[in-house]
Amino acid sequence: MSKGLLFVVSAPAGCGKDTILEQVLEKAENVGYSVSATTRAPRPGEVDGTHYFFLSRERFEQMIAEGAVLEYTEYCGNYYGTPKKGVEDMLAEGKDVILKIEVEGAMNIKKLFPECCLVFILPPSMKELERRLRKRGTEDEETIMRRIAQAKNEIDTALNYDYFVVNDDLEDAVSDLMAVIRGEKCRKQRNLDKLNEIKGE
Ligand code: 5GP
Repeated sequence: MSKGLLFVVSAPAGCGKDTILEQVLEKAENVGYSVSATTRAPRPGEVDGTHYFFLSRERFEQMIAEGAVLEYTEYCGNYYGTPKKGVEDMLAEGKDVILKIEVEGAMNIKKLFPECCLVFILPPSMKELERRLRKRGTEDEETIMRRIAQAKNEIDTALNYDYFVVNDDLEDAVSDLMAVIRGEKCRKQRNLDKLNEIKGE
């Protein structure tokens, strides 16, 4: 059985990455999601083990010391990291795996797994991103301006990614990400053993 592929998806807050990923994970076959660990508090509706593994700082630091996270970062005062075992098990089972992590973590994963595929989700424009952040109505003006500045910094790193998906229309963005996953699976370099199989050698 061939190993699964690793996809890393990043996007600034307000680009709709959670919704896009939810729909892709529902539709795509044999694609798993890596549940991250974090020390931030759960938001209303978030379930431990589904959205994140919610850990104390002490437990998180223990995982780092044990080498149990593939990568981690401190973001807005909290740790976020990718538990190693879940990802390795899914890949070994032949499942493709999606990590939803920020840009620094994405670069660290690329160093560990040079064959992984990096996807950046972009807003159609900064103006539209600002409109979406305001529409949420959950943040004050200062936070909104901080998030926009942060989004600009994150977008500056998008050139390090392999694919851009622009979330102008949700349905299109979902099918674009599905197309990236399918396309990557067809790459020659990932399928060289198939040639021999097909020829019966
Ligand atoms: P939030 O608190 O809004 O759920 O996530 C904040 C940021 O942390 C998002 O950009 C999210 O993609 C990122 N993030 C979530 N899990 C991980 C992780 O395991 N590693 C890294 N490096 N970033 C993560």
